[in-house]
Amino acid sequence: MHVRISRRNRPDMSAGLAQALTRLEARTGFRLTEPQKVIPDGLTFTAWCERLAAEGLKVDGKPFRLDNRPAMRWLYDQIPTTKAEAFSHTLILMKCAQVGFTIMEILAAIYLGIKHGPCTVGMFLPDMNLAAVKSSERFMPIVRSMPKVHGLMTQDAADGTGRKAGEGNVTRRRLAEALFVFSWTSGRATTESIPMDVLNFDEVQEMTLAQMEKTMERMSGSDVRFALMGSTANWPELDIHFHYLGGTRHRFHTECPTCGAAKPLDEYFPACIEWDAEALHPLTKRPGSYRYVCEAGHRIDDPQRGQWIPENPEAWNISAHFHQMLSPTISPDDIMRKYTDSTDKKNFYNRVLGKPYLDPTQIPVNLGHMRACVEAGKAAGVRWKRGARGTFMGIDQMGAFNVVHIKERLPDGRQAYVHIEEIYGEDPFKRTSELMEQYGVSVCVVEHLPNFNDALRFANRHPGRVFLCNGFDQLRDDMVKWGDAPKLDTSERRTDDEMRTRYTVRADQFKTMQTFFARLTAPIPICLWPDPNELQQEVRDEGVKTIQSPAMRAWVHFTKTALVVEKDEETNQYKRKVAKVGIDPHHSYAAQLCDVAWARAHGTATFIIPETGSDTEDLRAAAAERGMPGLPTHVAAMLSLPPGEVCGRCTSFPVDDEGNPLPRGPCGLTGAIVQAADPGCFQFVEAAEF
Ligand SMILES: [Zn+2]
Repeated sequence: MHVRISRRNRPDMSAGLAQALTRLEARTGFRLTEPQKVIPDGLTFTAWCERLAAEGLKVDGKPFRLDNRPAMRWLYDQIPTTKAEAFSHTLILMKCAQVGFTIMEILAAIYLGIKHGPCTVGMFLPDMNLAAVKSSERFMPIVRSMPKVHGLMTQDAADGTGRKAGEGNVTRRRLAEALFVFSWTSGRATTESIPMDVLNFDEVQEMTLAQMEKTMERMSGSDVRFALMGSTANWPELDIHFHYLGGTRHRFHTECPTCGAAKPLDEYFPACIEWDAEALHPLTKRPGSYRYVCEAGHRIDDPQRGQWIPENPEAWNISAHFHQMLSPTISPDDIMRKYTDSTDKKNFYNRVLGKPYLDPTQIPVNLGHMRACVEAGKAAGVRWKRGARGTFMGIDQMGAFNVVHIKERLPDGRQAYVHIEEIYGEDPFKRTSELMEQYGVSVCVVEHLPNFNDALRFANRHPGRVFLCNGFDQLRDDMVKWGDAPKLDTSERRTDDEMRTRYTVRADQFKTMQTFFARLTAPIPICLWPDPNELQQEVRDEGVKTIQSPAMRAWVHFTKTALVVEKDEETNQYKRKVAKVGIDPHHSYAAQLCDVAWARAHGTATFIIPETGSDTEDLRAAAAERGMPGLPTHVAAMLSLPPGEVCGRCTSFPVDDEGNPLPRGPCGLTGAIVQAADPGCFQFVEAAEF
């Protein structure tokens, strides 16, 4: 039988001595370990870490060393030495997995904390459990392996007589005059507003921008104000990549010893690794191994020979990308094995190359799109309004919380946001009814669950204007099906819900979300936004009240909403679904329902090709007149068009008051006189999608 002694439980002799010394100090009042002796003035972080290495610092049982990691050593050099260098800077690391960044983050936190004491260092993680793990499983073992630093550890005495030797508790550790607070950005922990001097954010992909900004505000009174932000890469333009893009974007350019060409290896991966039949494999010692090569094919033995070059040198904050090929302990064979073995491409890109990855169609909206929608809104004079007429409303309801989006139609046919509101309280539908009147809402669509009765009561207060969305099925052909439309097929069974109100609608969630997103991401935005900062309200996050822009919150939700097409392994069928990335994107749902409301007034008939038997009498009659029974006029007109991107298939093609296409007329976007068969311009947006 094996007796396993975990590393954690192994007795640590040197730490025991340090504790004994601290106890001695506490009793005698004499200090043996002075913080300034642990980190003298002027000693840089790198020099301190190298001193620790020389003194035998061990990490996970192995000696800590930097001498074989020149690429990473440069990152250590970016930790500021003085308060002036630190002030108001953030160091952003977009990293791969398993190359020891946690060590650097913890050492940096300790260095900055002790050096600038009295100093409060916030160690922020996405949730409580991760914070506890970082404190107990990462921070403490490192501190215990540095006897001089461990000797500075104190905690508050239980009897209130001051501080005594001790390791503190899991959320609070004290080293000399530095207090380390292990906290998390989600939930109630954010209600504490302890001022802080240094912040460390770990795994930022689980944090929202708003949470991070709020946490950064804790440093506003500090004269250190330094933040270190690190995360494995995740989605492009989101999370750590978003912060990385705003910084200097330093990348390590590996130099070829033969031709002198220098380039980041990840830029031409997998071509940066070649099979060499002659070379001895590092482990098996048999011929045949992978090698790093330059683009000309010359062998590169040391991928860490080269230099860090910024793509955006003017930026205030330093950001850097670090991939596993820069690690001295990971060979090109390891990289290729991970590459060829990986079934999940995203995982390989994120964790090995340290690069963001996303099937680009999955998260259609980024903040750049939203900025373009605001620019277009500015050009068109779009503003938030206190009142309006003939608008459209979408509501996502959660119980004591409604998210409401209101849009109006511009004369050129595009959409403009006029109001967004998050409504909290016992009866959010009361306030929602006020908004119905204030904004003269013509059509409103509300999700019928979770509070069906509240939604029904609300609908009955505004008969014929409010529709309950009672299904998010994948509709076979339609995007939207209205419950009040006379049904020709009487054999179709109505559910109980439909018996209680005839004003219902079913929407294909994927198609309607896709439509809404297409309106935001079109080369010329179809859905215009006023300046998000000009609308502010009190919002609540898990009970915490703050003043924020509901529009900015909506943007975050849009960027956390993915459109995913997945193959069902059992049936081999592709399934389309709207997926949430990390958070519940209530604003995306409200916006989507607002577009369903919009569809009732504008364009329903132009994008729905009705199923036989579910058409309305009117449309049937109109289509029959054109000699195409079963098809509405607009559809019949579209079918007669040449294929491809022609003006007649575009959302901006001029129509008459009934929505029928004109033979020729001014384009809704450019104003140019167009005919249905004209080739589409670069602003073409297919009407069938709308
Ligand atoms: Zn070369």
